[in-house]
Amino acid sequence: MITDNYKEVLSEVNSVTLKTGRDINDVCLIAVSKTKPSEAISKLYEIGVRDFGENKVQELCSKYEELPKDIRWHLIGHLQRNKVKYIVDKVFMIHSVDSVRLAEEIQKEAAKKNLIVNILIQVNVACEESKFGLDTEDTEKIIKNIAVMPNIKIKGLMTIAPFVSNGEENREIFQKLKQLSVDIAKKNIDNVCMNVLSMGMSGDYTVAIEEGATMVRVGTSIFGERNYNRQGECL
Ligand SMILES: *Cc1c(COP(=O)(O)O)cnc(C)c1O
Repeated sequence: MITDNYKEVLSEVNSVTLKTGRDINDVCLIAVSKTKPSEAISKLYEIGVRDFGENKVQELCSKYEELPKDIRWHLIGHLQRNKVKYIVDKVFMIHSVDSVRLAEEIQKEAAKKNLIVNILIQVNVACEESKFGLDTEDTEKIIKNIAVMPNIKIKGLMTIAPFVSNGEENREIFQKLKQLSVDIAKKNIDNVCMNVLSMGMSGDYTVAIEEGATMVRVGTSIFGERNYNRQGECL
């Protein structure tokens, strides 16, 4: 079931990628496994899936312990500074860096372990008050401040678009993130590459790919609905 869902989403990802004239390997499908048990991840691992997304440090750490070590864990949720130390050596990429202070903490912990940590800068393109992420106007300045940190490598940008019933409604947001990434790439800032654009979720990943996404983060369409409590928090 989960594997069928995954294959369906992957074939959609590949077909849209090819339609936009890009190479199939240009877009990475991240299976967002938050709230789902390790057994569900194992099923996908068995068919060759290696990229998984989690939004909570504790959950990522316990799944990390249980599952094969060649999984590429993507931390996609808000990261608190006091939790950085638990994950710097476990994640393939942190998608949600939205302040210099957080980056400083990542730098400190990465240096202790002698690692280079790949990060994306999270931009709140939609200017939603409830969302984390930088304002578009602040992004370049903050990237310049982070770029000097020797144990961090900035790979690109990430955004979380609003939840909409029709993915088309988010097209403009994806275009804006793409434009911002092109603008920043032109500045040729040392130690910064803008190769990665992490945008698009279950409801809008095809639109995101059309607008240049290189990573799409898909949960519900692969694993099914998640359970939420009354506060709207994932259980
Ligand atoms: C949960 C989550 C996703 C996946 O959302 P779906 O709508 O279930 O595909 C993607 N990105 C982030 C940051 C998330 O927290």
